[in-house]
Amino acid sequence: MDIYAIFGNPVDHSISPRLHNIAFYDLNIDAVYTRVCLNDGSKLIETFKSLNLCGANITVPHKEIALLQCDELDKIAKAIGSVNTIIKRSNKIIGYNTDAPGFLLSIKSFENLKKVLIIGAGGTAKAISYILKTKNIQVDIVNRSKEKLAKFSDFNCFTWDDFKISKYDLVINTTSAGLKEDILPVPKELLEPTIKQSRYAYDVIYNKQTPFLNLCKKNEITHKDGLDMLLYQAVLAFNIFNDGKLNNEKVEKSMRKVLN
Ligand code: NDP
Repeated sequence: MDIYAIFGNPVDHSISPRLHNIAFYDLNIDAVYTRVCLNDGSKLIETFKSLNLCGANITVPHKEIALLQCDELDKIAKAIGSVNTIIKRSNKIIGYNTDAPGFLLSIKSFENLKKVLIIGAGGTAKAISYILKTKNIQVDIVNRSKEKLAKFSDFNCFTWDDFKISKYDLVINTTSAGLKEDILPVPKELLEPTIKQSRYAYDVIYNKQTPFLNLCKKNEITHKDGLDMLLYQAVLAFNIFNDGKLNNEKVEKSMRKVLN
């Protein structure tokens, strides 16, 4: 039986084992998926090999350190600088990033996107900004502090101090603001007039009606949370685990049962 896992810290909250195990079962694949809480990210591949895993997903805080330990990287992982999926092929460890294409699948109902505002400048912002740029969508970034914006030299970047309110097709919250505390990711006097002019809004946080989503609802802006991003990154990772031979829609149908 093939064994897969998710590596992170913490990892006990992750629904990845449920998503992957239901798909293994429904698609009659003899494999199981578990979780590994890893303190020292530099030991990721060593641990992966010692457990004799065939593939794995990587979550916070090990996505960047995992990339440094792969033998080969796919184009997207290389460009973004982080890995959320690894597989062993001919004794080599290959790293992928399915967060970015997963996000893109999750916004397929959002039409005609030309100009997007990303709030936040962390790892998720990096993945989303990269994949939107490949679709020739203009991306602006606004972040609380200046330091992390240095990694976004291809984009128009603002802090709260120099951000100018303007019209966007889509506004995306990629910060963790709203996850534990009921706070907005950008001061309300900047965010609300921006949201009012926007056609769509998206929060990468899932399973929580955040203050950001509440503001979108109040202003009657079409919005969604990050649950589909989580689902689609898993669907794409599952197909990588299975050599790309599976129909994504079948995998999605199976995994969606966990979310419903
Ligand atoms: P990072 O730590 O890499 O980046 C966090 C960013 O959020 C930074 O730009 C930081 O700003 C900003 N930020 C943090 N707290 C606040 C605050 N209180 N107010 C304003 N800005 C704030 O995080 P990630 O990119 O890895 O993750 C971000 C979120 O995305 C998490 O909530 C995570 O759960 C979610 N996520 C969801 C996924 C999905 O599948 N739906 C996939 C991956 C992540 P500063 O630079 O000033 O510190």
